Amino acid sequence: MRNLILILGDQLDQHSAALRNADRACDVIVMIEAREESTHVWSGKARTALFLSAMRHHAQWCAAEGFTVHYRALGKENDASLAVGLNAAIAAFAPQAVICVEPGDLRVTALLQDTCSAASLPLDLRVDTHFLCTKAEFGQWAGDSKSLRMEFFYRNLRRRYLVLMQGDEPEGGQWNYDADNRKSFGKAGPQAVPTPSQFAHDAITTEVLALVNTIFADHPGNLAHFNWPVTREDALVALDDFIAKRLRGFGEHQDAMWTDLVFGWHSLLSTSLNLKLLNPREVVEKAQAAYRAGEVDLASAEGFIRQVLGWREFMRGVYFLDMPALKSANHFKHANPLPKWYWTGQTKMRCMQQCVGQTLDYGYAHHIQRLMVTGMFGVIAEITPQAIADWYLAVYVDAIEWVELPNVAGMALFANGGRFTSKPYVASGAYVKRMSNYCTGCAYVSDEKTGVNACPMTTLYWHFIDKHEKVLAKNPRTALMAKNITRMDAPTRDAMRVRAGEMLADLDAL
Ligand code: FAD
Repeated sequence: MRNLILILGDQLDQHSAALRNADRACDVIVMIEAREESTHVWSGKARTALFLSAMRHHAQWCAAEGFTVHYRALGKENDASLAVGLNAAIAAFAPQAVICVEPGDLRVTALLQDTCSAASLPLDLRVDTHFLCTKAEFGQWAGDSKSLRMEFFYRNLRRRYLVLMQGDEPEGGQWNYDADNRKSFGKAGPQAVPTPSQFAHDAITTEVLALVNTIFADHPGNLAHFNWPVTREDALVALDDFIAKRLRGFGEHQDAMWTDLVFGWHSLLSTSLNLKLLNPREVVEKAQAAYRAGEVDLASAEGFIRQVLGWREFMRGVYFLDMPALKSANHFKHANPLPKWYWTGQTKMRCMQQCVGQTLDYGYAHHIQRLMVTGMFGVIAEITPQAIADWYLAVYVDAIEWVELPNVAGMALFANGGRFTSKPYVASGAYVKRMSNYCTGCAYVSDEKTGVNACPMTTLYWHFIDKHEKVLAKNPRTALMAKNITRMDAPTRDAMRVRAGEMLADLDAL
C-alpha cells in the first residue's frame, strides 16, 4: 500500500488534484462520515443529508473508476471525528503518505496535520485546482493593502480568463450592470417564475435521509423538501435548467423577495459548486455562451458571472488571507446572544419568519435574504458575530467555512471593520418593504421607530445610526445616514432610544 487519498465531503471533484498520479493498484481512497462534522456547529438536517448523499454517490463513482475505496459510514463505523476515522484508516492500511486537497476550513487542515504528524506520516496537501484563483495568487494580488475591493479583483479575472471581454474592453463597454439589476417584483409580485428541476431520491439518498432523521433527529430544519443535486449528472441538469430557464430573470430579480417564494430566479448552484460537482469554469462558460447566443441579456449574464467569477473567488481569497483573525473579529464589540427564534422562525417579524422559516425548511435563502434580513439584523441587534456565523454555518446547505465566514463576518456584519466593504450594510424596515411584500400583515409597522408597534428593523437601524453617528458622518458613503438622524426631533430620538433599549434587552420577545 502506497498512499491514502483522503477525499473530504466538499471535495467531490472528478478531476480532483488528489487523484493526480493516483495508482489504482496500490493507493486507497478513504472517505469518512464523521459525527463531529455535523455537531461542531448544530448542523441542519438538510446540510448533513446533502453532504452524506453526495459523498456516497462520489464513492460509488470512484469505485466504478477502478479505485479501491475505504468508506467509513455513519451508522456503521460511527467515527466521532475525522481524526478518529483517519487514524483507523492509517492503522488498517499502513500507508506511506496521506494525500488530500487543501481543505476549505482551517479547523480541518489543523486536524489533518495533527493526525498525520502524530502518526509520523507525510501529509501532501494539494492546491485545489477547482478554483480560478489560487490562495497564493490572491495573496499576491492583495499585497499589503488594508482595504480590498472585489470589483478590481473581478476585472482582473475577467481579463485573465477572457470572460465577457471585447479585446481589452468589457463587453458592452461597462464592467458592471448593477444599475439595470436589483429591482423589486413591484406590486404585482413575481410573474411566472420557472420552477427548479426535481431530483428523485434514489436508494442512497433515501437511506441517507432516514439515517439523518434518526441520528440527528433533534437538529434544526427538516428533510421534507430535500431536492439538491447529489451527483455530477444531477448538477449538470441543474446548471442547464438554470441557464435555459432562469438566468434571463436573474439580474433583474436577484435582490427581490416575496412571501413563500423560496428560490425565485436564482441558480441554486452553490451546493453543486461548493461540493465541486460543478466547476466554476463550466458555469461561467455556459452563462457567457447563453449571452453570446442571444438567449439572455448582458445585465443578467454579467450579474451572474460577477457572483461566480468575482464574489466566490474573492471570498475564498479573503478567508485564507484573513484567518484566523476573521473568526474572532468583532469590530463593534457586539455581545448579544442569538435570539432563540433564529432556530425556529417563531418571531412576530414577518420578514424574519419568512427568511428563517424557509432556511429551516429548505436550507436555502438567497443572497439578499441572508445579507439584508438575517444578516443585517445581527448588526443592528448587536449580536455576537461568532453566534451569527455559527448559525449560518449550521443552517445553509451550501455552508463551508471558506465561503460562509467572509460573507457573514466580513460582508453582513462588518465585523472585520470594513476590510472589503466601504460601509456597514444597514437599512431600516423601508428597505425590506421596498424589496418584498413581507411587511404586509406584519405585527409591526415598518416606518414606525417608536412605540409598541415599531418595526424592530427600523428602530434598531436608527439606534445604530444614533450610536455610530460621528463615525458614519465622516464616511462619504454613510454621511447621509448620519445627516438624516440630525433631522429627527429630540423627543422622537429619545423615544427611539428607549424603544431600542427595550428591544435589545429582550430580542427573544420580538
Ligand atoms: P445565486 O444567487 O444564483 O448566485 C450564483 C452563484 O454565485 C452562487 O451559487 C454562488 O456560488 C456564487 N455567489 C453569489 N454570491 C456569492 C458570495 N457573496 N460569496 C460567494 N459566492 C457567491 N454562499 C455559499 O456558497 N455558502 C455560504 O455559506 C454562504 N453564506 C452567506 C452568508 C451571508 C451572510 C451572505 C450575505 C451570503 C452568503 N453566501 C454564501 C453567498 C450567497 O448568498 C449564496 O452563494 C447564494 O445565495 C447561493 O444561492 P444560489 O446558488 O441560488 O446563488
